Amino acid sequence: MKKLKVELGTCSYEIRVGTGLLARIGLWLKGRDFSGKAVIITDTIVEGLYAEVLERGLANAGFDVTILEVPPGEEQKSLETAGRLYDDLTEAYAERTTPVLALGGGVIGDLAGFVAATYMRGVPLIQVPTTLLAQVDSSIGGKTAVDHGQLKNIIGVFYQPKMVVADIDTLKTLPEIELANGLAEVIKTAAIRNKSFFNFLDINMNKALQYHPSVLETVVLETARIKAEIVEKDEKEVGLRGILNYGHTIGHAIEAVSDYELKHGQAVAIGMMAAAKISSRMEILDEVDIVKLERIIEKAGLPTEMPDMDKEAVWQAMQHDKKVAQDRIRFVLLRSIGNAFISDEIDPALVEEVLVGWG
Ligand code: ADP
Ligand code: ZN
Repeated sequence: MKKLKVELGTCSYEIRVGTGLLARIGLWLKGRDFSGKAVIITDTIVEGLYAEVLERGLANAGFDVTILEVPPGEEQKSLETAGRLYDDLTEAYAERTTPVLALGGGVIGDLAGFVAATYMRGVPLIQVPTTLLAQVDSSIGGKTAVDHGQLKNIIGVFYQPKMVVADIDTLKTLPEIELANGLAEVIKTAAIRNKSFFNFLDINMNKALQYHPSVLETVVLETARIKAEIVEKDEKEVGLRGILNYGHTIGHAIEAVSDYELKHGQAVAIGMMAAAKISSRMEILDEVDIVKLERIIEKAGLPTEMPDMDKEAVWQAMQHDKKVAQDRIRFVLLRSIGNAFISDEIDPALVEEVLVGWG
């Protein structure tokens, strides 16, 4: 097992990455200032796969465990489901010191995180991510939220967990498409910040896709390390943290226009290619690096071309994105592989041209 510390003053916490970790969490939580109760929030699929081993470990460590289940799917990221969970917590006599363990993918992490952040003004949260996407991205950094109306993640709060436990063993049951979904964020993180990790991915992508445990462990550890470093420098996303949105401004628009037929990672992959093309058109990024990016995205089984969709609609959707100001577009560009920056000075006409003229 490897440990990483996220240094955030009094809100600092550890990320633990390795195999066979679910069973050990109970022991790690014992002896902290927690109550004798523990609550696991999970979805029905993950419940069937991993709740028992986590529950047993907690019970062996002396916790009285309650498991709360929601159906899988983004629709559960709602105030309605949060409301039901508040009822369940009350019924389980959860206290201010009762740890809530979010066992599942990003949906569970965001939802259970939001519930833990708000119930009794905040109860201790332990993130136990079981998708690659959640292990490398959404469980780290303290963003919690639910959706509201048509808007994703619009009701939420920054709330740091007490611990993040990424058990690589849980990835074995993950469908391939979910693995690729997470690899998009992995590639993004390397592309914006760490060239040697990018090269490692280039060499080991096939092994990652074959669920090779030690490669996946390095993938999770290194991506988490980079994300943690960025979050430490800019917890509330007033500056640097924005570079994690590389590929996301266009990606979110593509995701929305596809009516969420495309997965987040697929849309982000296309968004990364678009942002690279824009960087190149502005003569900031070398063509060679675009080719490298394209190759690695392809290796991960992710799309590199605009799908057959209304590109005007993508452009319209982008202008509604909260990161797009009136006449200037705020955008993450690449200088080279491993080096991204936020630019406020992008000519909207160029973005439109790259998007609409693509493919
Ligand atoms: P994310 O936002 O992390 O991509 P979700 O929370 O939407 O993921 O989970 C994606 C799907 O994968 C859900 O149906 C969930 O139940 C399922 N899932 C999560 N973790 C695992 C796992 N380790 N093995 C198999 N399926 C999983
Ligand atoms: Zn993302």
